[in-house]
Amino acid sequence: MATSSIYPATYPPSLKEEESAWLVQTIKEWSISHGLAVRPPLAYSEQDPEGSIAGPAPVTLFPSCFPRECFHEALMIQRFYNEAYAAVARDEAWLGAVVKELLDIDDFIAQLWNVHLAVKKEGYIQPLALGLFRSDYMVHFDATLAETKPKPKIRQVEFNTIASSFGGLSSRVSSLHNYLLQSASYPQEAASVITPESLPGNSSIDGLAGGLASAHTAYGPSKSGARQCIIFIVQDKERNVFDQKHIEFALFSRTNTKVFRVPFTKVLQQTRLDESRNLLYTPPAFPDRTYEVTTVYLRAGYSPDEYTSDESWQARLHLERSAAIKCPNILTHLAGSKKVQQILATPQSTHLEKFISEILAARVRGTFAPMYPLDHTPAGLEGRRLATDPGTAQRFVLKPQREGGGNNIYRKAIPDFLKSIPEAKWPAYVLMEMIETPPQTNVILRNGTLMSGGVICELGVYGTILWNMEKGDVLSNEEAGFLLRTKGDQSEEGGVAAGFGAVDSVVLV
Ligand code: ADP
Ligand code: MG
Ligand code: MG
Repeated sequence: MATSSIYPATYPPSLKEEESAWLVQTIKEWSISHGLAVRPPLAYSEQDPEGSIAGPAPVTLFPSCFPRECFHEALMIQRFYNEAYAAVARDEAWLGAVVKELLDIDDFIAQLWNVHLAVKKEGYIQPLALGLFRSDYMVHFDATLAETKPKPKIRQVEFNTIASSFGGLSSRVSSLHNYLLQSASYPQEAASVITPESLPGNSSIDGLAGGLASAHTAYGPSKSGARQCIIFIVQDKERNVFDQKHIEFALFSRTNTKVFRVPFTKVLQQTRLDESRNLLYTPPAFPDRTYEVTTVYLRAGYSPDEYTSDESWQARLHLERSAAIKCPNILTHLAGSKKVQQILATPQSTHLEKFISEILAARVRGTFAPMYPLDHTPAGLEGRRLATDPGTAQRFVLKPQREGGGNNIYRKAIPDFLKSIPEAKWPAYVLMEMIETPPQTNVILRNGTLMSGGVICELGVYGTILWNMEKGDVLSNEEAGFLLRTKGDQSEEGGVAAGFGAVDSVVLV
């Protein structure tokens, strides 16, 4: 589908060599001074075995354009989405029916479900659940309908319920672009588009910290008598550590809550359950101290690669059994699967109305892109037809039930990919129409190198929600800032950490 641009043609302005060098220098210095930083790729780790080097995070030189109405709509409906996914997570029967279709063909989903069943058998002892969610969108604009003056609309790419990242860095990029504007570091020509009023503030760090604080407080006083803490479950060799640290430090300055980072691989060594299943943590650096964990924030455990042995599954079960509030718990993790998104998006269905009111559902539904199952239902047969014909497949992306980027199959590659796997496994995937975003250009600064040209932007909106899995009451529900990720338009994937893109901010047009 051809798309023509809806954005100002003269933005961003082209840069003279000196202007560009000035901007790059300013960005590098600002970034390190303000923690807009990442650890270097593993390739550099031999020169830095102690892991003490960090560099500026990949960013865009300019904020990218985003239609004002689309932006406000995405922020406005975040609380509706939070409510919907919290309700999905607590509807064990509905979620169980979805998962059942995947049990024999997706081992990872089956294992997660088994963790839930094991805890259910014994009885859950923590009714509260915390979600730090991120709903991702792209602007969809069908230029072939230009005569009818179509409006750009947001379409949801996916909904993340586990380890939604970049909320720490994205606030910083908004501040960086604002600084570049205020300090007159951009060429004069940019002034017609970027104004203080067109750069929205971004409170993702405080918003996410606020979500964790609400869980910490709602947990109540220590039951074991030990002082309390929050733990972040993290991956070994995390490059994106400062993204997480911003949230940790914001939480500390707000509530004095101590946060400890526990590698997923060390959960069983560093934590234990007492007889009431309170989760107790002893920091390796302070063996004489014990903390009672109020909240477990998972920034790990979302990928099958992380579950290298039985012990990894025991660790996940151990956390799930505990009295700590999990962010997310297993059912909420499962609610974030692409299969759930596809089922909610079923045309003419009332799945969504089961979870939120009709009025809210209509707003949320307005963001759904066409999606198909690949099973034996009529919609599934249609999906199979679209996915196996090279002529139609090129309008689609094929997605497994996975997170973290790098798992999808795009366009022309779909038919051959499906041929290469047993047909019985096809229902483990969902087929989604590609969102065709209006073209725009920007300059990406990555590892000191500039890349200039066509870009594709993805807006993520954060949301925090604390709810009771048994009674269903919602204790807090907030929109929590946003993220814009931008990649070169030659790349289908958008992962910043995976090496494809940059963190960006928004200029409203
Ligand atoms: P993950 O959970 O691995 O992040 P996503 O559904 O977000 O999976 O897909 C990864 C990337 O693929 C997205 O960030 C986006 O760049 C691209 N993508 C996914 N779905 C679409 C779509 N419908 N249209 C265009 N691009 C898409
Ligand atoms: Mg995801
Ligand atoms: Mg994604």
